[in-house]
Amino acid sequence: SAGLMAGKKGLIMGLANDKSIAWGIAQALASQGAELAFSYQGEALKKRVVPLAEKLGTPRLFECDVADMASVDTMFDDLKAQWGEIDFLVHAIGFSDKNELRGRYVDTSHANFLMTMDISVYSFTAVAKRAAAMMPAGGSLLTLTYYGAEQVMPHYNVMGIAKAALEASVMYIAEDLGKDGIRCNAISAGPIKTLAASGIGDFRYIMKWNELNSPLRRNVTQEEVGKAALYLLSDLGSGTTGEILHVDAGYHVVGMKAVDAPDI
Ligand code: NAD
Repeated sequence: SAGLMAGKKGLIMGLANDKSIAWGIAQALASQGAELAFSYQGEALKKRVVPLAEKLGTPRLFECDVADMASVDTMFDDLKAQWGEIDFLVHAIGFSDKNELRGRYVDTSHANFLMTMDISVYSFTAVAKRAAAMMPAGGSLLTLTYYGAEQVMPHYNVMGIAKAALEASVMYIAEDLGKDGIRCNAISAGPIKTLAASGIGDFRYIMKWNELNSPLRRNVTQEEVGKAALYLLSDLGSGTTGEILHVDAGYHVVGMKAVDAPDI
């Protein structure tokens, strides 16, 4: 097929439903001719993920819980048996106990701190290493981050610390794998209503605040994140690595937020 991703194969991790950022990215890549495989967290999500994946052709589906390294290894073994090589990997996974995505960061528990870092940070490094082993001709790795890594956002708490570590991982992975022609980048997306976002306290208020204060005076969509992912994962992004690309309607450049969010 024709398109920016013609002849390219890759794995998308983190598809839960049609609101997922992973779905916006999958649609953009498929529209440009990419061949896709998906991973989903567990049986409970399978019934939602299968019909979505089928809409984009006959893609491969793998169950993978990134908290379990044996599960990660099994998935890559299966993927390698089917495809041998891949050109790109998308990591759209994050998790924290929602009881700790409200109140004070300083109250975060040791157990949830470790789990959040494991699932939201280490998992990207673990899959980057395994994906790179399937990229003898080079490739492109992508993860998803949020502005709460750079500045304090209400309720984001331990996830902000995790995203800061994830963004640092992007730099170190870019350096490690760059000499093999493998690029590594992140998209810092503005707030989008998804399953994961619904766990964050007062998320509706954060969306409204972003809409009123971003230079574009609106929020972004999964489709817009998908288009930016297409740039980073295709040859259009061939000179870009170690980058945190903001797809947030410009919110991150605004110092003095001018517009008060009304009571909502
Ligand atoms: P989502 O709920 O659709 O996706 C999160 C995914 O993480 C789900 O598919 C879930 O199954 C998966 N996941 C969680 N724990 C897992 C585990 N142990 N093993 C395997 N998969 C696991 O929500 P989303 O908003 O599309 O989230 C995707 C990424 O985008 C996350 O990293 C999130 O932090 C990031 N992000 C989201 C927003 C937003 O406002 N929605 C903004 C910036 C960044």
